[in-house]
This record gives sequence, structure tokens and C-alpha cells, in this order.
Amino acid sequence: MTISVLGGGQLGRMLALAAYRLGERVVLLDPNPESCGGHVAPLVVGRWEDAGPLAELARRGDVVTFEFENVPDAAARFLADRVAVAPPPEALAIAQDRLREKQLFTQLNIPTPPYRAVDSHQGLQDAVAEIGLPAVLKTRRFGYDGKGQHVMRTLADVDAAWLALGATPLLLEAWVPFDFEVSAIAVRDRAGAVVRYPLIYNQHVDGILRESRPGHPRVDEALSAAAATLIDRVLTHLDYVGALTLEFFVVNGALLVNEMAPRVHNSGHYSIDGAQTSQFENHVRAVLDLPLGGTETVMPCVMLNCIGGMPTLAALCALPGVRIHAYGKRGSPGRKIGHITVVGATEAQLQERLVAARQLVDAATVV
Ligand code: AMP
Repeated sequence: MTISVLGGGQLGRMLALAAYRLGERVVLLDPNPESCGGHVAPLVVGRWEDAGPLAELARRGDVVTFEFENVPDAAARFLADRVAVAPPPEALAIAQDRLREKQLFTQLNIPTPPYRAVDSHQGLQDAVAEIGLPAVLKTRRFGYDGKGQHVMRTLADVDAAWLALGATPLLLEAWVPFDFEVSAIAVRDRAGAVVRYPLIYNQHVDGILRESRPGHPRVDEALSAAAATLIDRVLTHLDYVGALTLEFFVVNGALLVNEMAPRVHNSGHYSIDGAQTSQFENHVRAVLDLPLGGTETVMPCVMLNCIGGMPTLAALCALPGVRIHAYGKRGSPGRKIGHITVVGATEAQLQERLVAARQLVDAATVV
């Protein structure tokens, strides 16, 4: 079988690597001819808006999926008229608009930080009066890794935030004094069976994910059970097929959802090395209508993102217990160009290995 993937970045690359292990094939579509997915799988270079490349993808693939949520949902719908698409294009349309996303969570009774839609300067002032400060103003569309966001701490920041972002539809959100952040990744198959990865503990710096680990001591069973209930609501409501991620803030033991990603997720990259079945393989299995694999963690592990720059291969290879995932991308500030998974036979060994690995990764990081 061949899976057509909208998007040819590192997520498409890792999906392709998982598919090829199963003896299946992938074809990627991306406007950027340098897309790193193209190093490992056939890449069609074309714009999301053009019928030609989309039709080629429909012709070459038995099923279509996506790895990038800013693909216009019109492209997913064009494909859905011709070939099976999973996850549903509706999930893509919702996830690319922060307001629709929040409205879905509200509808499904999934707690979110207080939010208001903002379309004018006066609207921003009214929303600030209702929600209070600190708060964060976000573009409804095309924001990622902390881009398209402006934090307001005092009333003096409000005009600057409007000036920076006011040209597009916006969402105002209360700033959450969270204790920590977690993400839930679940995969649903065509028959409605669901597998869930352990809740993942995430550390961001300036809006960019730096570290993720499953099985963190701060994540207890009650939190995991609560997250499972919430993600199941979204999966069922959308009659979802494939991998879905919800990112949460944890405040006093309670979950507040930040956003959803209708795809495999950076916080799940540990699963290539640390889980019985990776998120990529389970997504491939779901879209190909194969039974899903186990999600249990097979050894203590932590994923470290390489941002802007990556340690030399020689330096990484010299470290024990480091699984290297270089995406073959050029480094530029803030860009995710690889990750490593540090593994240990025991928690103590993992912690020991993490010291050197973090030092090396931090020294190469450029934001
Ligand atoms: P986002 O692009 O919405 O996923 O935001 C990226 C990161 O910025 C989050 O993972 C948080 O670390 C931080 N952040 C975003 N929104 C808020 C908020 N309302 N309160 C506190 N931190 C936030």
C-alpha cells in the first residue's frame, strides 16, 4: 500500500521510515523542494492550492494523511472526494484555528484557560477587562512554537500587542500559572479501538519544546486517567482515525487543555526508541487499517530537541545511551533540526547519561 502524506518535513520523514519498516510505501507533498522527508521517500513538490499535485497524490496513494496542520483544509477535502483521508479533514480545519479549537473543547466539556475572540482594538480592550492580566494574545491561525503570540503583563502592553498582531483574527487567553505541562497522544483505528501513550511531561522554553519524558514522577494515575477521558471525547466526537495529541497545562492537579494537534507530535518522538510501538508506526497502522501496537514504555528515556544547531555526530556517537535522530535539515535559529533520545537500563543510569547529553545539546542550541 502507499500512503500519501501532506507535508514533507521531519514528521513526514519519520512516518515514512515507520511505513517502510512495515514494507509499505509513502509519497510526500510539500512546496519546499528541500523538505527533509524527500531524503527518504518520493517527494512531489507543489503548492497546497494547486489541483495538479493534489490529484497526483490522490492517484498515487491508497490513503492520504497529513503531518502538518496548516495544510489548507480545502486541500484535504479535495483529496477526501477522491480517496480515503485520515484523520478526518474536519479535525484539520478545527486544529488550524485556535478559536474553533477552544470552542470544540468547550462544547465537549474539556476545561480550557478563559479565552475570548478578538477582532478589533476595542474588542481587545473589552476582552482584557473581562479576562484580566497577565494574558496572552495569539493569532487564530498559523501560530506554532510560540510564534504569533504576545504576552501582556500590564495595561501598558496592550497597545503593543495590538500593533504586533492586530492585522489578523486573534484569540485572547488568560496566562496560566501552570505547575507543569503534559501531552496526551492517542491513536484510534477505523473500528474505534484506541491506544494511549503514557502522559508525557514536557518542558518548553520560550514556547519551543525542549524536553519530553514519559513516566515522569510528577504524573500520577489520576492525571493520566483524566487525560484519557478528555482525549477520548475528542476522538469519539470527530470519529477520528490516526494519532491525535492534546497539550495540557497542569494546575493544582487539574488539566487545562492548551491545544490539539491532529497528527503525530514532537512530544511523542521518544516513542521511536522508548515505546513498544512508536507513534509513527501506530499512525501508519491506523490509516492502513491494521491492528494497533502496544504503547508501553520499554525503558526509561528522555527526548531532547536539537534546536537551531545540533552537536556534531562524532560528539553524539561518543555518548553512551543516546539514540540519534538528525533530520538532515540546515540549522537556523529556533528551527527543530533533530532530536536525541537518551535511554538507560535504570532510572539512575538515565539521569547520569542525561547530564552529558543535556550539556552537549544545550551548547549547540541556537534560538
Ligand atoms: P502554543 O503555541 O499555544 O502551544 O504555546 C507554546 C507554549 O507557550 C506552551 O506550551 C506554554 O509553555 C506557553 N503558553 C502558551 N499559552 C499559554 C498560556 N495561556 N499560559 C501560560 N503559558 C502558555
